[in-house]
Amino acid sequence: MDELLRTAAERAISYRASLADRHVAPLPDAVDRLDALGGPLPDGPDDPAAVIAKLDELGSPATIASGGGRYFGFVTGTSLPVTLAASWLAGAWDQNGALVACSPIAARLEEIALPWLIDLLALPAGSGGGFVTGATMANFTGLAAARHAVLAQVGWDVEAAGLFGAPPVTVIVGEEVHVSLLKALTLLGFGRERVVRVPVDGQGRMRADALPPLAGPTVVCIQAGNVNTGAFDPATEICAAAHAAGAWVHVDGAFGLWAAAAPGRAHLAAGIGDADSWSTDAHKWLNVPYDSGIVVVRDPQQLRAAMAPAAAAYLALTDTREPSHFTPEISRRARGVEVWAALRALGRSGVADLVERTCCYAKRFAEGLQTAGFQVLNEVVLNQLLVSFGDAETTRRVIAAVQADGTCWCGGTVWQGQTAMRISVSSAATTEADVDQSLAAILRVARGVAQPVGR
Ligand SMILES: *Cc1c(COP(=O)(O)O)cnc(C)c1O
Repeated sequence: MDELLRTAAERAISYRASLADRHVAPLPDAVDRLDALGGPLPDGPDDPAAVIAKLDELGSPATIASGGGRYFGFVTGTSLPVTLAASWLAGAWDQNGALVACSPIAARLEEIALPWLIDLLALPAGSGGGFVTGATMANFTGLAAARHAVLAQVGWDVEAAGLFGAPPVTVIVGEEVHVSLLKALTLLGFGRERVVRVPVDGQGRMRADALPPLAGPTVVCIQAGNVNTGAFDPATEICAAAHAAGAWVHVDGAFGLWAAAAPGRAHLAAGIGDADSWSTDAHKWLNVPYDSGIVVVRDPQQLRAAMAPAAAAYLALTDTREPSHFTPEISRRARGVEVWAALRALGRSGVADLVERTCCYAKRFAEGLQTAGFQVLNEVVLNQLLVSFGDAETTRRVIAAVQADGTCWCGGTVWQGQTAMRISVSSAATTEADVDQSLAAILRVARGVAQPVGR
């Protein structure tokens, strides 16, 4: 066993070292070779060392090099070396994070890391929370707490009685709501089309002045960090209006919530702490391995009422925090391990620096693209930028050519009717040199597409 684990670690270390020079998207023939991993179910055992060798030799070349510094797709970080190392150790521990009795260490690391996170993200001290797979599940879990609370206010026990015959709940979202929030609403029985959509401004911010009159059980869903522009909904005004009407405010803050951790960006998140529940990712801007998201709820009892098994939901909160009483899952991996390791290793200033640095790199991209004559479509306030290379077809061709070039990887989006390339700088591995190398490649490719050879 020692030899197997040592070889796997060596292969992993070589893989990480190879990322600096690699084509960011896998080459098509590497993806084609994945067929060799398949075939019929093996009749009997194989040598574990051969299994790992096959996985590395065929699998590693077919990965996206998102662990390197030149991946700018979606809002994807890498994993800080300390968090990858912590994850290896946690894998060896093989802990079940469900209950204190299953794993005192898994439970304790969550109890330590959660208040750290709440402090760092400027959320209310004493809030409760759970460690889930990502922001989608964090949205689901926070909205389940909201569903519990707004229906309990009108005397309906939704966990016991379900939604059939329940008083209707009004759910309000911005026109720019993230698909994951709609998915969470679908899973909760709220329906993704039953929502009231509030118009947004040119940066995708919900217009507080366009909020409808609020009455009865109501959940207002706002965003900290629009996935395209990085813009924040005006939380102070929306929370004040919602709370005056007894409504619950949930914040989708998958990456944007981390602005609060950087003194130069915290103003963007003004008022976000006035809400009632928040979702965020650790696997995006905190740069921990997948999968890792966190839900935070101001009143821990509301979260536990929605998530704990029937027998535990209405017990008084005690000093013993059973992890599975705050998440949809019962058995699960010890997700607090890497979050603890990241926060312990970076500290307050390290997280602030990571956020600020990546925001500055986004600005550097924007300036380089604008200087070259391309149009940046958003105000670059955070780590997200949108660039157009002309009409939709030209922009799509540039995106495909940038991905095929392999120096870096950026995805496409449609922003308020305009096709754009989206650059998201979220990786702790990205350096200024990575930005400059990527910018040079994007400009070279874009000029080539705009003026095809032979014209
Ligand atoms: C990424 C993202 C999500 C979904 O997060 P997952 O971790 O993929 O589940 C939700 N909302 C926003 C704004 C995001 O950027």
